[in-house]
Amino acid sequence: MAYLLKKPTSEDKLKVLGSSAQFDVCGIPSLFLRKNKRLQRFKFIYPAIGKGRYVRLFKVLQTNSCEGNCFYCSNRKDRNFPRISFSPDELAHLFIQYYKRGFVDGLFLSSAIYESPTYSQEETFKTLYLLRKKYGYKGYIHYKILPGSEDSIIEKCAPLADRISINLEALSSDYLSKLSPTKNFSTQLIGVLEKISLINKEKPLKAGITTQLVVGAAGESDKEIIKFSHFLYKKYDLWRVYYSGFFPIKQTPLENNPPCHPLRELRLYQADFLIRKYGFTPEEIPFEKDGNLPQEKDPKLAWALSHNENFPMEINKADFWQLIRIPGIGRISAKRIIKKRKEGRIKNLEELKATGCIIKRARNFITINGKFYPSTRKDKDIISSYQLFLWEEI
Ligand code: SF4
Repeated sequence: MAYLLKKPTSEDKLKVLGSSAQFDVCGIPSLFLRKNKRLQRFKFIYPAIGKGRYVRLFKVLQTNSCEGNCFYCSNRKDRNFPRISFSPDELAHLFIQYYKRGFVDGLFLSSAIYESPTYSQEETFKTLYLLRKKYGYKGYIHYKILPGSEDSIIEKCAPLADRISINLEALSSDYLSKLSPTKNFSTQLIGVLEKISLINKEKPLKAGITTQLVVGAAGESDKEIIKFSHFLYKKYDLWRVYYSGFFPIKQTPLENNPPCHPLRELRLYQADFLIRKYGFTPEEIPFEKDGNLPQEKDPKLAWALSHNENFPMEINKADFWQLIRIPGIGRISAKRIIKKRKEGRIKNLEELKATGCIIKRARNFITINGKFYPSTRKDKDIISSYQLFLWEEI
């Protein structure tokens, strides 16, 4: 059941369709969004990270009218709430106004499935086309491909976007059956991912291809998620897998299910990052007996605490890949340590601190010229409560 708003203005539509788009993630883990109320002020302006700084994405659906009935989704057909659509002209014009006024830096364009995947994809394609051809917009566009879209339309959309993505949402057809009564995992989701991966291989998109998984609604463990993501990165050369913590929505079949804890989402991002950027294998990620990541510690710290045989590590001898396994030392500080060592040995904590190393985290895991600097009691509390956020581009 659905109802329509009478004569909504473009701004009315934006409020509803921006809010409807919030469950598509493309940047910052929800833990940080919830903490920063300023970033949440306008639901259609979404903070992401690009080139080391915040960028503001205008994140919106073309329509929230959907033929689908996914159990967790706010746009599902059986839910009673206002249904609204932008015409391609209206949405392209509205975005350009926001862009020209300096309120946003890029666009994230998605849609529910109205009439059919092909019809809805054609509508978003028209918006994309108008932006590039009529308005000459050259900025960032993350463009969502809908489940079951035809190859021919994907082929014409891809050259106009910086990034394209398809939301797999689940790890397998069994898990998907707990989230959606109608979507077909292999044909409508994996089949489309294969197509966009092929397009990206032939002519790489500027910001690559991505996908999203819903976390905590189908009973999957973190270990299964990380294993599946690793497979996706290798097979489809994805730029990113985004993890969207499940949140129960009223008038949906999953409304009484518990929400995914925001720390779970964050720990998944951290584990994912360790594999992609820190040389960890999925087998090295420390899972609890139930297959989930420990929530009270970030996975790198949890790994270090369970691998005493590697520590303390001598800061003047460790190579790059060893250095970045030390809690408190990231890729940038490891590079600076190696550069500094070319000028002479690092002599003390002050010199190490100057590289950007977080001394309170690192000191229990290192020696400097053979000398160990154990932490104070206060530092130990900081070490266990510290939540590492791994910054990277959108
Ligand atoms: S098809 Fe997409 S928009 Fe429609 S109910 Fe399913 S997840 Fe929601």
